[in-house]
Parts: sequence; structure tokens; C-alpha cells
Amino acid sequence: MRIGIDVGGTSTRGVVISEGDAIVAEAERRTALGSSGVLQSITDVVMVLSEASPGIPPAEIGIGVPGLVDPASGVVRHAANLGIARLPLQRLVADATGARVVVDNDVSAATLGAMQYVHSDNRGAPQSFAYINIGTGLGVGLVTNGRLVHGRHGHAGELGHFPLGLTDRECGCGQRGCIETSTSGSALSRFNPDRDRDAPLPDDFLKGLVALLRMTTLATDPSSIVLGGGVVSNCSGFLEQVVRALAEDDDSDTFLSHLQIADRLGVARATNLGALGAALLPRMVADPMEVPVG
Ligand SMILES: [Zn+2]
Repeated sequence: MRIGIDVGGTSTRGVVISEGDAIVAEAERRTALGSSGVLQSITDVVMVLSEASPGIPPAEIGIGVPGLVDPASGVVRHAANLGIARLPLQRLVADATGARVVVDNDVSAATLGAMQYVHSDNRGAPQSFAYINIGTGLGVGLVTNGRLVHGRHGHAGELGHFPLGLTDRECGCGQRGCIETSTSGSALSRFNPDRDRDAPLPDDFLKGLVALLRMTTLATDPSSIVLGGGVVSNCSGFLEQVVRALAEDDDSDTFLSHLQIADRLGVARATNLGALGAALLPRMVADPMEVPVG
């Protein structure tokens, strides 16, 4: 039995997956903040899931957490939304549960979930894949040669912080004009907190997403790109609006217009992709970051 846990700033979700990849149980708890709060939230969800599937102790637990995570050591750093500066989460959860534990970034976990449960078809999961998570922020998860890409310091896929200059707004990272300042849930709610799910997406939101899709495609040329996250699940006609924006911007016969991005696009509306993907983390071979000690 494998457990996947998705730790968010508001809630911690968990799933139990059978050896046949079926969902056996699901649970959700409010996330308590700070190192001890997050640890307690995780162990609470593990306990509820274990009670829901009696007689089978969890052998493996995968955890997705927002913040900088070294998947080899399972140490979480700079998870500002959770109130964590540094936490050896892998060791602490392993000590508390006796299971083998693997920790990674939440977007990495959702990327595995999207690859396995949204894209997967008779041909199996693709070797090159990209997942664009549009939630409160904007992040990209990348898979090449069948492996998650973390990069030297875990910055791979942080394209939401490329300062494209579509806006002059300050970003949470301290820069101005990052793509995230036009293309994210926080950008949408800043101007229209009561936004209706049928409201059209603003022009600068779509322009930023088109630019992000092109950058992602030029960087790794993925065979499939899935869009997911809270904004995607809470907006009707999301994919149609993105495809239209791509077509309107591709009206000339340029190099970029030949990337055929629309043909690679899909959307994920499931809200448990992060937890489903986290359950797959123990199967991935860890790709350690080269983080300086100290
Ligand atoms: Zn930024």
C-alpha cells in the first residue's frame, strides 16, 4: 500500500493507492502551520488513511510540499506559505510512521499525477512531459527521459518568475513584472476577488500563458503539456480560451507559429492530482540537488 500526501497552505490531502493503482481511501485535514503543525497535519492524515484501510500498514509514503525540497535528503527549505525555514521532513515522518518516505516539491508531485492519470493512455506515460500549475502562483514541472527535472538548486521550471514585463507589478519574489504577476490565481483575484467561473480571462493573463507555453516548448520540446491547478479547475472553457489566444498570436508564418503547441495541450481538473502524484514519488529515483551545506 502506498500513501500520497499533498501539503497545501490551506489543507493537507492524502490518498491510499493499491498495488493495482486504484484509490483505496482519501482524506483531508486543515493544514496547521509551522514545522510541528505541518508534521502533525501529515501524521493525522496518515492515521485517518490507515484506519480507512485496516490490516495493511503503509509501506511507502510520498509527500509533496510547496518550497525548495532536496528529494534525496527530504529536507524542506524556504516553505514560506507553511511557515517553515528548514525541516528534515523525510526523516521525521519516517520515524513517526515506520514507512519509507520520499519528499518532493508539490508541483513535481502534481506533475507525476498529471502524467500518470491525465495523459496516460495505451502507449503509457510520455518520456517528455510538462505540467503547468496555475494556482495561487505559477510553476512548471518538467519530465525528460522519464525523470523529473529538478536542476542544480531546484530552480528548474520556476518560469513564473521570468520578468516578462507584461505588468509593472511587484511579485512575491521581489522582482517586478514576473509572468506570475499577470498569469496566476493571485493576479486574477487582485482585480476581481468575486470572479465568476464563466468570466473571460484577461488579455495579459493569456499573453503571459502563451509566452510561458512557448518558453517551455522551446526549452524541452515536450510531447504533451497539461494545464492544471485551482484556476484551471475553476474557470469554464479554459482550454478553449488558451487555444484561441495561441491561434490569434500565431497568425503570421514565423518560427514560433510552427511549434504546434495547441496540439500538445490538455487540462487537468482533478483536485487530488498532487496527492495521487505524491504516491508515485517513492517509485522515482531521487535526483539530488547540489545544495551547498550550511
Ligand atoms: Zn517573481
